[in-house]
Amino acid sequence: MRYFADEIPGGGPLPKPQSASIAEGHRPRVVIVGAGFGGLNAAMNLRQADVDVTVIDRRNYHLFQPLLYQVATAGLSPAQVATPIRRILSRQANATVLMERVEGIDTKAQTVETSNRRIHYDYLVIATGARHAYFGNDAWADAAPGLKTIADATEIRARILSAFERAEVAEDEKIRGALLTFVIVGGGPTGVELAGAIAELARKVIVRDFRRIDSSSARVLLIEAGERVLPTMPPCLSEKAKRQLEGLGVEVLLRTPVTQCDEAGVGLADGSAIESACVLWAAGVMASKAAKWLGVPADRAGRAMVDEKLNPPGHETIFVIGDTAAAVGEDGKQVPGVAPAAKQMGQYAAGAILARIANRPVEPFRYRNFGNLATIGRKAAVADFGRVRLSGFPAWLVWGLAHLWFLVGFRNRVAVFLDWAFAYLRYDRSARLITDRHDR
Ligand SMILES: Cc1cc2nc3c(=O)[nH]c(=O)nc-3n(C[C@H](O)[C@H](O)[C@H](O)COP(=O)(O)OP(=O)(O)OC[C@H]3O[C@@H](n4cnc5c(N)ncnc54)[C@H](O)[C@@H]3O)c2cc1C
Repeated sequence: MRYFADEIPGGGPLPKPQSASIAEGHRPRVVIVGAGFGGLNAAMNLRQADVDVTVIDRRNYHLFQPLLYQVATAGLSPAQVATPIRRILSRQANATVLMERVEGIDTKAQTVETSNRRIHYDYLVIATGARHAYFGNDAWADAAPGLKTIADATEIRARILSAFERAEVAEDEKIRGALLTFVIVGGGPTGVELAGAIAELARKVIVRDFRRIDSSSARVLLIEAGERVLPTMPPCLSEKAKRQLEGLGVEVLLRTPVTQCDEAGVGLADGSAIESACVLWAAGVMASKAAKWLGVPADRAGRAMVDEKLNPPGHETIFVIGDTAAAVGEDGKQVPGVAPAAKQMGQYAAGAILARIANRPVEPFRYRNFGNLATIGRKAAVADFGRVRLSGFPAWLVWGLAHLWFLVGFRNRVAVFLDWAFAYLRYDRSARLITDRHDR
């Protein structure tokens, strides 16, 4: 897709290199790469500002990742957790949206490079997020998909539902056993959510739908290398989450590193193996290439190191935010890779840019932790608000309300609420479709 140079603020042929000061005669040009939680919040917080904002994303939609596991387990449809970026910013007159993949950044020329063009910036916000990682075992990706995109979610949904379909027609007991064994590697929030949702699907939702198999006999195993599930939560809530998972019939294996993943299942550190036709990966995270683009230091997860103003070293006009930044809070701890942190960083970056333009001092970024939530299943969740800790139904209610509140778009909120209400009353899931490459 080609645009005319004049149509994009800062677009077109490579301009002459400029210093950090803004050339006379044009409004400051703010380029935001990534329209996830961080980038979108940066853009929206510049809506009243006398700047030109260009938002670049490789996709045309903003994805609400916290509910992606429900797409993967047939609870919601993809469109219920995604909203077109253009629609979100359609009323923001100073914002232009480009659907392009960024491939590099020339900090000297102050340009962002996509496959089609170079776009000049005066201020740059990089919010390109993170992806799952296999700790150097990338060959495991085909056998054990992770959950990050809508394509991942529909692939996982197809694998889960296909496993039941194939088990229904399998003649061999051993093969049927492997088809009815679901392994989730990684006991963080995504692993816990997937395990709980698959167990409920097997035991409550589809239990009357098959004739030859008993779906409720399916094994769901959550395998975690560390000491406990949900390691960022207080130990008492990890223990409660484990008990709630076990109540749903999930087998939780702790201190159990996975050493092999292939079509047959997983191998464990003690030399044993679990045969499974459906292995899902929820164990590691690797940041986007932002640090490489900028040529700045990164931590072990590839996150670009930033100072207390979210600038990478030596780049006062560049802000790296959200999951792709290695930022440290006032308490000296790493700011966590969660949606509220990315949103706060986006809001901060917008304010810091306006302060720089007005030659006002820029205060350091302060992360405010309003609490951690993780859901386990229908009526089961844990919530940590510091002194207040909840589990079971009250935590699940808070989780549901919080996710409805933060979901982008009124229509999506209503649609998700109705689906949840129906699922709650009837134990049904609306999106039990095996699609994509599986229906060719
Ligand atoms: C399955 C899952 C469940 C989660 N659950 C929770 C939860 O319950 N609560 C919570 O707080 N957090 C949760 N998180 C984490 C939360 O979603 C992230 O912390 C948050 O999305 C980070 O926001 P971000 O803006 O940094 O990146 P993202 O939201 O990931 O957005 C990055 C954007 O950059 C775009 N992009 C990437 N590379 C390029 C490129 N080269 N060119 C152009 N565009 C690019 C992407 O298309 C994307 O739109 C979950 C994450 C996952 C994957």
